[in-house]
Amino acid sequence: METAGYLTKQLKLNHKTDLTIMSRILSIALLLSLGFTATAAAQQEEKEWKPEDTEYYEPVPPKVTPVENRFLAPPSDATVLFDGKNMSQWESVNGGAVKWDVKDGQVTVVEGTGAIRTKETFGDFQLYLEWKSPNNMEHTGQNRGNSGVFLQGIYEVQVLDVWNNKTYVNGMAGSVYKQNPPLANVSIAPGGWNSYNISFSAPKFNEDGSLKKPAYVTVIWNGVVVQNNFELKGDTPYIGLPKYTAHGDGPIMLQDHNSKVSFRNIWIREL
Ligand code: MG
Repeated sequence: METAGYLTKQLKLNHKTDLTIMSRILSIALLLSLGFTATAAAQQEEKEWKPEDTEYYEPVPPKVTPVENRFLAPPSDATVLFDGKNMSQWESVNGGAVKWDVKDGQVTVVEGTGAIRTKETFGDFQLYLEWKSPNNMEHTGQNRGNSGVFLQGIYEVQVLDVWNNKTYVNGMAGSVYKQNPPLANVSIAPGGWNSYNISFSAPKFNEDGSLKKPAYVTVIWNGVVVQNNFELKGDTPYIGLPKYTAHGDGPIMLQDHNSKVSFRNIWIREL
């Protein structure tokens, strides 16, 4: 009996000791894993992003032939931002008047003069415009007919000649640049006019600057939905991940990306 009692006591002790050791091991493991998580987060923060880190090539959106009548005249309640004659509602982001070329009912990028933006700012809106790529087949990828429509001056819907021109799919025309490829490639041969019909719901921010509600965008390219109420993850940088920074209303901005892209028939409806 005594021996049995001794053994039981010892077993209990050993069990207790095991539990103590086990809990110590678990605590150490937990601390280590917390440490690793913190280190990983710090490394993520400090990562030196390269442009190609945020570019991907598959799946390739299917080609879709545009609708037959893809152009829309402004409805009665629209504000016409460009009627083909003058750029009085626009300014250069470098200050002063627009230095792009207005001719034949269209405005064309003059490379090196910089982006242009509306003088007025907007929140939620429907924006319609038409754009045309220059016929410069000597360029490839992102250098062929690159421009962009920056919603609130921040969020880029890409403009690019993707007619037989391979590039990363989240940088194609119709993409939310580096966030989401278009659902379809509705491109037409360079030299022809494309239409974008864009509905945008602006992001909302809390008083402390944190995000209250993300931005959403729907893009209809040549009559075909290519962004379907897409939730934006933030801005649309060339390098690194998108992020939100609190802001109010913003302008419509058109990009000078060293390509003679033309625009015409630009109108907007505030929602
Ligand atoms: Mg662009």
